[in-house]
Amino acid sequence: MLADLEARLARFRRLGLAHLPTPLEPMRRLSAHLGGPRLWVKREDCTGLGLGGNKLRKLDYVLCEALDAGADTLVSGGVVQSNSQRQVAAAAARLGLDCHLAVYHGRVAPPDAAYETSGNALLNRLFGATLHDVPWTGDRNAAIGDLARRLADAGRRPYVVPYGVSSPLGAMAYATTVVEIAHQSAALGFVAGAIVHCSGSAATQAGLAVGAARALPDTRVVGIDIDAEPERVHADVVRYARGAAALLELPFDPAGIEVVAGHAGPAYGVAHEATIEAMRLAGRLEALVLDPVYSGKGLAGLIALIRAGRWPQDADIVFIHTGGTPALFAYGETLGL
Ligand SMILES: *Cc1c(COP(=O)(O)O)cnc(C)c1O
Repeated sequence: MLADLEARLARFRRLGLAHLPTPLEPMRRLSAHLGGPRLWVKREDCTGLGLGGNKLRKLDYVLCEALDAGADTLVSGGVVQSNSQRQVAAAAARLGLDCHLAVYHGRVAPPDAAYETSGNALLNRLFGATLHDVPWTGDRNAAIGDLARRLADAGRRPYVVPYGVSSPLGAMAYATTVVEIAHQSAALGFVAGAIVHCSGSAATQAGLAVGAARALPDTRVVGIDIDAEPERVHADVVRYARGAAALLELPFDPAGIEVVAGHAGPAYGVAHEATIEAMRLAGRLEALVLDPVYSGKGLAGLIALIRAGRWPQDADIVFIHTGGTPALFAYGETLGL
């Protein structure tokens, strides 16, 4: 059914901002260190623009809507070290649009002074975004909407990119990753037993789940909760997956959605020992740069599942490196690497 999924996805336009397909590479040394299964990494950190990450794949489709609407300004938001808003800022620069970002303070207690100014915060300024400091209230999209209304009142034509670029369209976009993995794993001679990745604002997992249900029916999608809110993540994955399936005119069964709890550490944005161990292993064995908020926790979850014996030794498991590289520098010395 791969060709069918490709045909459905081809009904939607993409801007070509992201470098695609991203590589699928073996992690031989990490696999050997853990004693199997065979591990692979899908390099969504290599999507290119503005230091890359998984949000560009969503933006590639979502921003067609912004251009069609004649928008002159992108409006989005996130925490100080949000990879999502940094990728929105990068896309705006490339497209020649203004970018206004609601920067949430208070969701993450800054681990050190570098948190406020380096990493993604530095890149937002480099890409020319206008930053608006707002308090975190728990509502991910309210301040973004308020900012867009203020800009519209001032005569701008804003386009709102939701928190995490998560929406039914963003989720649909992420199903393209499954198409790439299906072709790449076939060429490499394996069928993935599972695709494992960290899940937050949920459209990444939603797209993977909808795509895999159609094109890789023997592959389980396993999301690792990194928000310390597994029920909310699960509910959002189901919601966006239902929306993405509707856009693609595919059936959707929520029974296949799996969000694994217990690997987020004490809170969102706080690195803990298992995360730092996973980052260290990925760095020393595979020269992969994971971050303490997302991809490090995702790999920590995968390692814990492997150690618990979830898969046989001869299984092939794909880990998605969703990006987050710049945030490493915002945590810097606090990680004790
Ligand atoms: C946003 C993000 C995720 C999670 O993707 P969602 O679609 O929000 O679930 C994972 N890793 C990194 C590095 C991210 O920036």
